[in-house]
Formats: sequence, C-alpha cells, structure tokens
Amino acid sequence: MRVVTGPTDRVVVVGAGLGGLACALHLAAAGRQVTVVEREPIPGGRAGRLSVGGYEFDTGPTVLTMPELIEEPLAAVGEKLSDWLELTPLDPAYRAYYPDGSTLDVRTDTTRMAAEIARVCGAREADGYLRFVDYTRRLWQLERNDFIDKNLDAPTDLLGLGLLKLLGMGAFRKLQPKIEQFFRDPRTQRIFSFQAMYAGLSPHDALAIYAVIAYLDSVAGVYFPVGGMHAVPKALAGAAEKHGVTFRYDTTVERVLTTNGRATGVVTAGGEHIPADVVVLNPDLPVAYRDLLPSRRQRSLRYSPSCVVLHIGSDRVYSKIAHHNIHFGKAWKGTFDEVINKGLLMSDPSLLVTNPTRTDPTAAPDGKQTYYVLAPAPNLETGPMNWRGGLGKRYADEILQVLENRGYIGFRDGVEVQRIITPADWADEGMAAGTPFAASHSFTQTGPFRPSNLHPTLPNVVFTGSGTQPGVGVPMVLISGKLAASRITGGKR
Ligand SMILES: Cc1cc2nc3c(=O)[nH]c(=O)nc-3n(C[C@H](O)[C@H](O)[C@H](O)COP(=O)(O)OP(=O)(O)OC[C@H]3O[C@@H](n4cnc5c(N)ncnc54)[C@H](O)[C@@H]3O)c2cc1C
Repeated sequence: MRVVTGPTDRVVVVGAGLGGLACALHLAAAGRQVTVVEREPIPGGRAGRLSVGGYEFDTGPTVLTMPELIEEPLAAVGEKLSDWLELTPLDPAYRAYYPDGSTLDVRTDTTRMAAEIARVCGAREADGYLRFVDYTRRLWQLERNDFIDKNLDAPTDLLGLGLLKLLGMGAFRKLQPKIEQFFRDPRTQRIFSFQAMYAGLSPHDALAIYAVIAYLDSVAGVYFPVGGMHAVPKALAGAAEKHGVTFRYDTTVERVLTTNGRATGVVTAGGEHIPADVVVLNPDLPVAYRDLLPSRRQRSLRYSPSCVVLHIGSDRVYSKIAHHNIHFGKAWKGTFDEVINKGLLMSDPSLLVTNPTRTDPTAAPDGKQTYYVLAPAPNLETGPMNWRGGLGKRYADEILQVLENRGYIGFRDGVEVQRIITPADWADEGMAAGTPFAASHSFTQTGPFRPSNLHPTLPNVVFTGSGTQPGVGVPMVLISGKLAASRITGGKR
C-alpha cells in the first residue's frame, strides 16, 4: 500500500462529512493532532439538518445500514456506539407499492421475509429469495475484505483467491440477469435490484457485485437513530472532540498551500493559514481538485444521476404507510433510461417516501408529520435543466399529484411547510454535475479504477468521501475515512 511520506503529526481534515469525521477519529486514535475545518456551522455535510417552522428534516441519507461501520471509528478511540446513538431497527425496512396495487413488506428476518414473499408472489419465489440471501451474504463477505475495506493502488491488488471466487459467482456479469436467476416475479426483481440506482446505474448496466447493496438494506437491516440521521455525524463529532480533535466550524477552506511539491497547510476564506503535515480533503473530490488544489488536467468522470428532494411538514397522517415507502411506477427499464441516459425527468415516476415522524414524533410539532420525498433526476451533465426558472416548483407539484394519485389523499392540502431541493442546489453546495451521489460505479470507476484517495503528485494530500474509494453511501464513506487514515498511519496505531 502506498502511504503518505514525511512527517504526519499534524493533520488538517477539510470537511466534517461522515468521511472526514471517520478519518479524524481513526487519526486521533493513532495519536495524530487533528484539526477539522468545516464551512458549515454543524457537522454532517450531506447528512445535514434543516429546521423549518418547528419541523426538523434530515437533508440527505435516510436509509441507515451497517451500524457496525459507525461502531468502528468510535471503537478506535475506545467509545461505545450505544453511549452515543440510540438506533431503532425498522420493521419493515421498506414497504414496496406496485402499480398493480399489491404491496410487499421488506423484512430483515429472512424467515418472515420468505413468508411475505410467499404470500405476495408464491412459494417458488420465496425459495429464490432464500437462495439470493445466501448468494449475497457470500458476496458481501468476499467483497468486504478483499475489495471494499482495502486501499487498492493497482488492478493487480485485486488478484487473489477472492477474485477467483467472485468470478466463479458471476459477480462481474450484469446484475439484471443475475437477479433473474433468483426471481421471476417483476416485483421481487425490482425490490432486490433498484438499489443499483444508489451506485448510479440501472440493474441492466450495473455489475452483479452491486447485489450487495440489496443485501445491506434488505437483509442486514435498516435502522433509524433517535434524533434522525443527523444524530450520526453529531455522535462522531462529539466523540472526536472528546478525544482531542479540534473543530473549526463556519470556516471555509479556500485552497491547499503547497511548497516544493508538498502541501504545507490550508488557507481559509478569512485569510488564515492553518499549517499541516498532511491535508485530508473531504469535499466532493472533483470539486476539491478544481477549487482547492493547484490546477492539473482532470480525468473526466461519468456521474450518477441526481435527485429532487421534497421536505414536507404536514398535518396529514397516512396510517397504512411505513417509515420507508417505495412507490414503483409501471415503467422500469425506461425509467432508468430516462434519468441516466436521456437526461429526462421520469415520465412514470418511482418515488421514495420516508415518514420519519412515524418513528420519531419529536421531529414535528405535536400531531404533525414530516415527509421526505426523493425523486431520482438527471444530473446536470446528462440533463442540464433550468431548475431556477420555476421548474423545481412545477416538478414538486407534479410529484405531489402523483402521490395523491397513488393514495396520499389530501397530501397537497396538508402541506404546512415545504422545501424543494433540486440538482441546482446540490451544485451550489459544491457537488460536481449537481449530483450528491458522486461518480457512478461503473466498472471503470470502481475499486482501483475509482479516483485514488492519494493525490498523484502531492505525497501528503489524501481524499476521503464518496468521490474516492470505495464509493458512495454512508457505509462506504465511513470505510473511506478509515482507508484515508491508514494512508497516513500506514495502518499502524
Ligand atoms: C438526498 C440524499 C439521499 C441519500 N440517501 C442515502 C441513504 O439513504 N443511505 C446512504 O447510505 N447514503 C445516502 N446518501 C449518500 C450519503 O449521504 C453520502 O454518500 C455521504 O453522506 C457523503 O459523505 P462525504 O463524507 O463523502 O461528503 P459530505 O457529506 O459532502 O462532506 C463534505 C464536507 O465538506 C465540507 N466542505 C466542502 N467544501 C469545503 C470547504 N471548502 N471548506 C470547508 N469545508 C468544506 C462540506 O460542508 C461537508 O460538510 C444520500 C445523499 C443524499 C444527498
């Protein structure tokens, strides 16, 4: 493994996103003097918090999987997760709604899930599910140690028994035909493959290795922290502070200072020079290269689709929904095609509706509800749209109408507060191509082919977050923080 050369005692981490926080904790555990410089007044980055008229909204991730990956950076400094976070397992993890009117509850317990699939789709489909669980569990075990939780410098780092086993499992073929080996019913095919969208691809284009995402949320379980998802970065930042990490909030880094081919610190927007032996960059990777580092030619990347998010405070309660609800449209392959390849808004939308107050009523005034509606949308490179010119509001109205048609009667009239977040807003927050989901996980942007977490010429500049290895999503960026730290410590404590 390549490591940072020279002194590594003082580290400046730019950004208190989940990647930056995990990195800071691992570095503090290894005795480094760490300063986190964050432009916002709070930690979390994409896992932020929005307060409007007595309602509290999580701004980014809502589906929390693999809490053991939160445990890891806390354990590094000798802290216990249960002292910092109270996690509620969600049961069901999701409720899926299909255009034929049927619903399917996704349960973590495999016996109950098999029974649910048998109820909705028949016994043969339930057998396929049990085979799928077995397959994806093995896939996760193989991928986690050899490919995800490991710094990869070159494709040759992949060579080994694990690779052979993955090849034997068909993990490098396409996801859709792999799913069809287990499931015949389009409903189960959808609920166990839509997660390819998290990797920025359609199930027809994604590799079967991404079946692990379905494993993580539908089999390993989905959790909700008391206080919302933002409680996660708050906990990590609290523990880091307790263990000596200095936080400088409301402080924007303007650039990384370099002398003789090494970084020597950062300069803030206020003109302050914060010296460092090593600089870790957590902002979106292509934007960090563009705005913070000495200019160099950038490799062009293909980005994941983006999304429109509606945050709604409402007086309406829908007793039949779950915490997470996925409303599938009739269209399937065509929807991915519209959003990912054609740069169009979905003509027959599939939507995620999360109702956090179902689990944590304190996020809204007494008797009121919060709803978080996520609609996949093209990023600004494939679908440059005039979001500022009223499109955001028009599209939000369209989504509300779709939800009314799909059973949320009176949804529009119940809206007390509403915030609409569009790809233009993600771009304003410093996310390349206006997507919060980074470069997609195509074969050429995965593993050793994804932008490295070590700068190619500045030997003491390291990256963490969803733009680098291993990739996007809360579990992956927490791992990215650990991988970045081990580039600095050499994996030693
Ligand atoms: C709408 C949405 C839904 C999502 N849903 C899920 C989900 O359900 N499950 C899941 O696992 N993942 C989900 N994700 C993805 C997940 O949230 C991200 O992959 C992850 O949080 C990214 O973390 P990060 O550390 O890479 O970056 P960020 O969270 O973006 O952190 C970067 C930090 O750097 C700071 N910063 C930037 N520039 C500067 C500067 N110049 N100076 C100082 N500070 C700076 C930013 O303010 C920010 O705090 C979702 C994301 C979004 C936005």
